[in-house]
Amino acid sequence: MRAPKPTDHFDVVVVGAGPAGSAAAIVAARAGLNVLLIERGEYPGAKNVSGAAFYGSAMLNKLIPGWWEQAPVERYICRRDVILISPTTAVSLDFRSASPDYAAPPYNAFTILRPKFDRWFAAQAEAAGAFLLTSTVVDGVIKERGKVVGVKVRRDDGEIRADLVIACDGANSFLAQQAGLQRRLETHELSLGVKEVLGLEEAAIRERFNLSGNEGMVLEYVGAITDKARGGAFLYTNRNSLSLGVIAQVSSLVETGKRPYELLELFKAHPAVAPLLRGAKLREYSAHLIPESGWEMMPKLVASGMLVAGDAAGFCLATGLYIEGINYAMQSGMAAGEAAIEAHRVRDFTRHTLERYTELLWPYNVFTDFRAYRHAPHFVNGERLQNLYPEMAAASFERLFRVDGNAKQKILPLYLKAMRQSGAKPRHLIADLLQAARSYLW
Ligand SMILES: Cc1cc2nc3c(=O)[nH]c(=O)nc-3n(C[C@H](O)[C@H](O)[C@H](O)COP(=O)(O)OP(=O)(O)OC[C@H]3O[C@@H](n4cnc5c(N)ncnc54)[C@H](O)[C@@H]3O)c2cc1C
Repeated sequence: MRAPKPTDHFDVVVVGAGPAGSAAAIVAARAGLNVLLIERGEYPGAKNVSGAAFYGSAMLNKLIPGWWEQAPVERYICRRDVILISPTTAVSLDFRSASPDYAAPPYNAFTILRPKFDRWFAAQAEAAGAFLLTSTVVDGVIKERGKVVGVKVRRDDGEIRADLVIACDGANSFLAQQAGLQRRLETHELSLGVKEVLGLEEAAIRERFNLSGNEGMVLEYVGAITDKARGGAFLYTNRNSLSLGVIAQVSSLVETGKRPYELLELFKAHPAVAPLLRGAKLREYSAHLIPESGWEMMPKLVASGMLVAGDAAGFCLATGLYIEGINYAMQSGMAAGEAAIEAHRVRDFTRHTLERYTELLWPYNVFTDFRAYRHAPHFVNGERLQNLYPEMAAASFERLFRVDGNAKQKILPLYLKAMRQSGAKPRHLIADLLQAARSYLW
């Protein structure tokens, strides 16, 4: 297929070939729409960053049946650990399942490497009939009489016109801001993730993480790992590598003066982490922003001639229990693709008709999930939850399991002592328990 010319007119231009953009392009192109997918990277995924645990297997199975048989997946996830950490101690909740929901098709989740996965996923959009234009930066939208009518690209030929532009350009979307749909985000609404991929032999991975065959594991850490900055850390098993990183709220990095790569080094050196990394060799280093405030930071999603999906719309669910953005990027991309088809059918791309997108986000479980967990992002970034309680839990268990010749204490006095020593106040604890209940229980 030849490269598009400025005179070309597309039904849909999708900006960004991440999970949101490729999903939108697949849906729209399969319905016969003339779709252009524009990506600034040399290839889709070249610079894209996630952990990456992909929790949307069953959902993607509806779009591409048996997708995991052809896609570059690493390991299916059957173990998940949440670990509270102090500088010297770790307390883990270890979940493992051999049930068919986790260990058989369509599987619950996979670890993936984005440069490989995104490239494969964008190829599915091409196979559906979309035209993929790489190494091309979109500099802004073209507006005429209040309607978005195309995009400006950083190439000689300058402008590409379309009935509909779907902005899937990721966190802190320049396009959404330029179209007046999103304000400039505050530093407490964004986190910075720094990540490394370390090569390690398959046999060592199986042995260290107690896995067999293609089983995989994700470990998520909270507490002293971010040294008073608000955030957490992760360690995921790939086929013959480990992905690990630290995520910290941008405002708390500024407040504490911590540098992300220092936090990453601290994490790697922790006594509960370092033995898992022994002998592993650095393959990649990357960093990326994450929109973490969920429901509260959602921009307007629709303008005449334009929709916003994925991270560009703030659809990354970061609740402490979950860090899921890839699946919501795909789900919102698919909803945007469907809205494009409906608008194309009636030849009407005004805001009124395109509002259908916001209705479709409910059955795709995007709005449902973000609304249900709307209180969680704020709660999870609270100072006490981030730093005080993990240290308290670690100190309590430290004392509980220590046999040092002194009389054994029962749990309540031991716990109250840990509370006193850490400076936690009972009234704060009660308030936090209520907040936790509101965030996660109902
Ligand atoms: C460290 C880290 C760990 C994470 N871990 C997980 C995890 O384990 N599981 C999970 O589900 N989510 C995770 N996330 C979140 C997840 O990465 C995002 O939610 C997801 O990538 C959003 O997909 P997207 O398609 O909306 O945006 P992106 O993946 O950011 O894709 C945007 C695309 O647009 C392109 N683009 C941007 N601007 C332009 C432009 N002007 N012109 C042309 N192209 C452009 C980019 O090159 C990119 O390809 C993590 C994020 C980070 C940073």
